[in-house]
Amino acid sequence: MPIRLCGLRFRLDRFIIPSLIQGTERMNDWRSGGSYAGPIPFRLVSRDSRPDGSTLDINGIEIGGREVVVMAGPCAVESRDQLFATAGAVQACGARILRGGAFKPRTSPYSFRGLREEGLQLLAMAREEFGLPVVTEVMDTRQVEPVCEHADILQIGSRSMHNYPLLEEVGQCKKPVLMKRGMGATIEELLLAAEYVLNKGNDRVMFCERGIRTFETSTRNTLDLNAVPLLKRLSHLPVIVDPSHGTGHWWMVPAMSKAAVAVGADGLLVEVHCSPQEALSDGPQSLHPDRFAEMMQEIRAVARAVGREIPEVQPAITRPKDRAKTLNLSR
Ligand code: PEP
Ligand code: MN
Repeated sequence: MPIRLCGLRFRLDRFIIPSLIQGTERMNDWRSGGSYAGPIPFRLVSRDSRPDGSTLDINGIEIGGREVVVMAGPCAVESRDQLFATAGAVQACGARILRGGAFKPRTSPYSFRGLREEGLQLLAMAREEFGLPVVTEVMDTRQVEPVCEHADILQIGSRSMHNYPLLEEVGQCKKPVLMKRGMGATIEELLLAAEYVLNKGNDRVMFCERGIRTFETSTRNTLDLNAVPLLKRLSHLPVIVDPSHGTGHWWMVPAMSKAAVAVGADGLLVEVHCSPQEALSDGPQSLHPDRFAEMMQEIRAVARAVGREIPEVQPAITRPKDRAKTLNLSR
């Protein structure tokens, strides 16, 4: 049955209908965990393109390898004292990367929305002082340049996963990207968000499952741990889990961290605050350093049980500044 479109004749029965059916079959095949016969919608992030998985090197720390990399710190950078106290505490427990928000997406415009550029500078100072790489959120294309200048990993927040101009902008820079799952996003949408970044030339991306919105109201979100084995099956990129936003309750964080390590997470993103009841954002889900220290021991045991590792804390390393003092180079 030929039809005419823009002066061209199409055979509905021979071409258009069969290709529509084929496309639907492919999507269904993917959803049921089958393999593709033809082109797939997330070509670059697909495990098919790197069957052995990819690892990211963050200043010598490997993400996606044998180690489960713990990233910890406050939800928001509030002051030098607050950031440095937390950074020192999490480092002493074995955290390898310091987290802290300078630009904070908040539901209310009247809430604390971060120290912005000053927050970035404090993060850079903490990075220098403790030798920990820094992960912080970038919310807007105009923030990409300053955040790249001060941070080691750019966090795309849950609310920004669908901000395609932002995804393309971070795709054009050289810094690794932590792609958080949108709170209402499917796994397919998350994969395609990462595809935007890779498609612009930046393949240093990791996913972060941080909980999705469901009908349940007793937790802030529902931490979808299905996402971990699913993403690892479909994509070669490492997968991080954020049990702080995933639950909203500090007392649930250790249990869900252990679960995340058990199901194969390559890392954790955990909120820690020295005085959670005084935190300017996300205090109820922030662990006190003492609880964080206990949790690190527990997840170390789980990591060992599943063939991964979280290295024991090394004796305090000599920082560049101290080395300068030893060599009598300081003024
Ligand atoms: C955060 O990490 O502090 C944050 C705002 O996370 P999310 O985008 O997952 O809500
Ligand atoms: Mn937070």
